Amino acid sequence: MNSTSVEALKALLAVPQQIVIVPHKNPDGDAIGSTLALWHYLSDLGQQAVVIAPNDYPKFLKWMPGNEHILNFEKENSQAKEAIDKATVIFTLDFNHLGRIGQMQGVLEKKEATFVMIDHHQAPSDYAQIVYSDTQMSSTCEMVYNVIELLGGQCKLTPQMANCLYTGIMTDTGSFKFPSTTSRTHQVVAKLIEKGAENTKIHNHIYDTNSPSRLHLLGCALKNMVILPDYRTAYITLSQSELDAFDYQKGDTEGFVNYGLTLENIRFAVIFIENADEAIIKISFRSEGSFSVNEFARTHFNGGGHTNAAGGRSNLNMQETITYFVSLLEQYKDKLDA
Ligand code: 5GP
Ligand code: MN
Repeated sequence: MNSTSVEALKALLAVPQQIVIVPHKNPDGDAIGSTLALWHYLSDLGQQAVVIAPNDYPKFLKWMPGNEHILNFEKENSQAKEAIDKATVIFTLDFNHLGRIGQMQGVLEKKEATFVMIDHHQAPSDYAQIVYSDTQMSSTCEMVYNVIELLGGQCKLTPQMANCLYTGIMTDTGSFKFPSTTSRTHQVVAKLIEKGAENTKIHNHIYDTNSPSRLHLLGCALKNMVILPDYRTAYITLSQSELDAFDYQKGDTEGFVNYGLTLENIRFAVIFIENADEAIIKISFRSEGSFSVNEFARTHFNGGGHTNAAGGRSNLNMQETITYFVSLLEQYKDKLDA
């Protein structure tokens, strides 16, 4: 974060504000962890703050301290709108364009307030007055740690904040193994453990709360996997009827896409998940090495993200989506082989 932004943020928080903190739609560990950590920090400073999530999120994220105070824009719409009406400052975390917040988009586009963006995705749009955008960062949680440190608040880091921040760094780095994990990331994580982050407990909350039906759904997903060795690609499909058959709960498919990359010589892994309610196919893309799934998702599937992890959507049906996807691969053959 550059010094102008730090000074602007200091000045903003030097006076009482009504603050709304927003993660992206379908928030993940980094989105919930970073918004809740910032909420704890601002509340401890004496600011009035509230986290508003665009929609619901998986149960395995709901143990984080402060979770009970998060408003769900879809379920608690009037309370959430009231908080936005009153807001003087809006922090947007772990996303960088207002198309990522579902039904909240229209409301925030019209809203007059000071917008602060803290985010590590590519290609930020320009809705915020104070911007901390860095695509090299492992996670928004690592950035929130930096913000707290730059504001001189390291000594104010509580175990609650430490647990939230640790969670987002852990989930966004694939438990500290993705290339975005730097020595600085490990230094931050070390500090968080010193400040009270309970690493083993956090890991158990996130990864060891499987239900039998989720494991059976994983079995179905792996059975459905198609491997295209010529394109070093593996993809998985899950139809709405398969999700229903295995009692799909929000978050159950988290991590499934990564199995494709564990195959030798596979560089590009994709999962296509039908969402009958929204009449879309939600897609997750993952890659190993230099092939940019961010560009692929942005160019062909109305999405985006990072070089090695991105998401998008298709309005075609599953079969048409797969046919279209496979037809694209030939033009990327060289890049997938590089
Ligand atoms: P996931 O596949 O886990 O949903 O998302 C992978 C990464 O891509 C995350 O950083 C997520 O924020 C981003 N992402 C997922 N879906 C979309 C999308 O529809 N648009 C954009 N711009 N980014 C997405
Ligand atoms: Mn993130």
